[in-house]
Amino acid sequence: MFEHIQAAPADPILGLNDAYKKDPNPNKINLGVGVYKDELGHTPILKAVKQAEERLLLQEKSKNYLSIEGRPNYRSAVQTLLFGKDHQIISKQLAQTAHTPGGTGALRVAAEFIKKHLPEATIWVSNPTWANHQSVFQSVGLEVGSYSYYNADSKTLDFEAMLASLSQVPEGDVVLFHGCCHNPTGIDPTPEQWYQLAKLCSKQGFLALFDFAYQGFGQSLNDDAQGLRTFLDHVPEMLIASSFSKNFGLYNERVGALTIVCETSDQAESAFTQIKRCIRTNYSNPPSHGSAVVAEILNDAELYALWESELDTMRTRIHEMRSLFVNTLRAKGVNQDFSFISQQQGMFSFSGLTPDQVAQLRNEFGIYIVGSGRINVAGMTHDNMAPLCEAIASVIK
Ligand code: PMP
Repeated sequence: MFEHIQAAPADPILGLNDAYKKDPNPNKINLGVGVYKDELGHTPILKAVKQAEERLLLQEKSKNYLSIEGRPNYRSAVQTLLFGKDHQIISKQLAQTAHTPGGTGALRVAAEFIKKHLPEATIWVSNPTWANHQSVFQSVGLEVGSYSYYNADSKTLDFEAMLASLSQVPEGDVVLFHGCCHNPTGIDPTPEQWYQLAKLCSKQGFLALFDFAYQGFGQSLNDDAQGLRTFLDHVPEMLIASSFSKNFGLYNERVGALTIVCETSDQAESAFTQIKRCIRTNYSNPPSHGSAVVAEILNDAELYALWESELDTMRTRIHEMRSLFVNTLRAKGVNQDFSFISQQQGMFSFSGLTPDQVAQLRNEFGIYIVGSGRINVAGMTHDNMAPLCEAIASVIK
C-alpha cells in the first residue's frame, strides 16, 4: 500500500535547520529558522514564563480536557492584547477567540473555516510571504493568489503596486496581511499606508485575515497592533491568527489563537460555533500548558510588567544587531548598500543575497540562510558578527 509513495521535499526552512544541526563545523552560524536567540546564541525561557510555570505547578489540580475553544481567561486576555482594553469590540462582544496550537494552527483552522463557509473565495498573500502560507491554504483546497508587496531593486515596500493589485481583489475574497514585522522582508506599511489599505478593504469588500505572529517585536505591543486596529475602524469583520511562539518564547508549547470579529455579537457567536466544529474534527481541543502560562502572565500585573521588559530586551537586541551588521559589513569593505536592514523590523530581512551566494556561504563557511536570501537577524551576536560579515564580504566581491 505504501510502496508507491514518494518522499516529500524537505521543508525549505525546517529542512535547513536539520542540515545545520548535522554540520560538524564548529564555527557554523544559523540565520535560517525564525527563532529568537540571545547574545550567547541561546533561545531562552523567559523569566516571566518560568515564574508563571512555578505558580501553575502548585495550582494545577487536574489534567482534564479543556473546552474546544480553550480557557476563558486566556481567550479574554488575547482580545485585550489585540484590541486594547477599552475597545468596543470587547465591550460589545463582537469577537470570539479560540486557543489554537500555535499561529500555524490558527491559520489552518481559519483556512478550513474559509473553505467551508466562503467556498468561492480566493485567498491573496503578499509576494513574498512566509513559506508555509501557501501550503496551509492549499492543503484545504483554497485557491491562493498573490499581491505585489516588495520592490527588490529599492528594497522597500512597493505601495503603489500593492494598492494596484489589491484594487483588483473582488468582493468576498480574503486578503492575508502580516500584522507587523513582515516575514520575510521585515518591511511593514506605515500608519498612513495602513489607513489607505483599510479604506481599500472597505471599498472593495474583501475580508482581511491578519497573521499576527510578532506582536511586540516591531515597536511595542500597542504600536504593532495599529494596522489591525486601523482596519477595525473601517471594516466590521476580520479574522486574526495570533502566535505567541516568539513574543513569549513558547515555541514548543504550541500556543496561538484564532479570533473572529463580526458585525454583531449574535453573528460572532454563531460563526464561532462553526470555528469550534473545525477544531473538534481536527484536534478536538487545545493543549493546556502554553495557554495557562500566557493567561497567568497576561492576567497578573507583576508578571505582565516582567514579560513586557523581557520583550523590550529581545526587540532592542535585534535592533542593535541590525545596526551592527550594517556597520560591520561596511568596515569589512562591502560597498553594496545594506543600510535598509537597520530600518526594518522584526526578526527578518531580505538580504538581497543571491541563491548562489547563499549556497556558497553554507558550503564554504557553514552559514545557513534561507534560499530566498531571508536572514534571521536574531541569530547574530557580537561574537559571530565579524566572521559572518567577512564571509559575506568574500562571497559578494
Ligand atoms: N505566521 C508567520 C508570519 C510566521 O512567521 C510564523 C512562524 N514562523 C507563523 C505564522 C507560525 O507560528 P507558530 O510557530 O506559532 O505556528
